[in-house]
Amino acid sequence: MDIAANLKMIQHRIVAVCERAGRDPATVTLMAVSKTHPPEMVQAAANAGITHFGENKVQEAKSKIPQCSGKLRWHFIGHLQSNKARDAVELFEMIQSVDSLPLAQEINKRCEQAGKRMPILLEVNLAGEASKFGYAPERLLAELTDLNALPRLEVQGLMTVPPWKPVAEQVRPFFREARELKQRCEDALGAPLPQLSMGMSGDFEVAIEEGATVVRVGTALFGERARRPSQ
Ligand SMILES: *Cc1c(COP(=O)(O)O)cnc(C)c1O
Repeated sequence: MDIAANLKMIQHRIVAVCERAGRDPATVTLMAVSKTHPPEMVQAAANAGITHFGENKVQEAKSKIPQCSGKLRWHFIGHLQSNKARDAVELFEMIQSVDSLPLAQEINKRCEQAGKRMPILLEVNLAGEASKFGYAPERLLAELTDLNALPRLEVQGLMTVPPWKPVAEQVRPFFREARELKQRCEDALGAPLPQLSMGMSGDFEVAIEEGATVVRVGTALFGERARRPSQ
């Protein structure tokens, strides 16, 4: 697995799609999703130039992150249980998957205790898939003011994982919907939300065309994950 070569290819594709879409490539952050992969692979990606990494399990991150360079920036992208909020606050510089007010309140409380602030993204489940976590749009709009009022949290935008489709183009409506929902949230708050985290290995180009500011790429960088996480 040549991570540096994979990274070059991905960066090339990001630049190309930005050119087509009339966007500055500097407005798109490539986050490496390192779940299931060992610290050595994180290090290889870091050596190749990546600084942002995503993990989806607190337990796995708790053992992995301390074994990695202290310069890396870690984002939580999985479902967070309230009883893991304290660890998440300690380990991550952003939690991209906040999906309820009670969870946000718990993170806020843990930040208070730790003397920290936490940038967060609100995860939205646009297709209403029962198998996925995330806010239904109407519920998000209903809770937005309360979420935004939590003093230790900084609501920076939205994150979404659209339904799986065989062709990336078929995911476009969900990405577009996420962008429109972000706009509705901005209107409701009267403030800009800078971040839109969407797009994975199979569809990050479409996501960038629809306004993604963070793409979360695992497989295209590290190769296929083992079926069962070794953790
Ligand atoms: C695993 C995962 C990704 C990366 O998926 P790939 O298809 O391997 O690029 C992105 N986002 C989330 C939330 C994930 O769990």
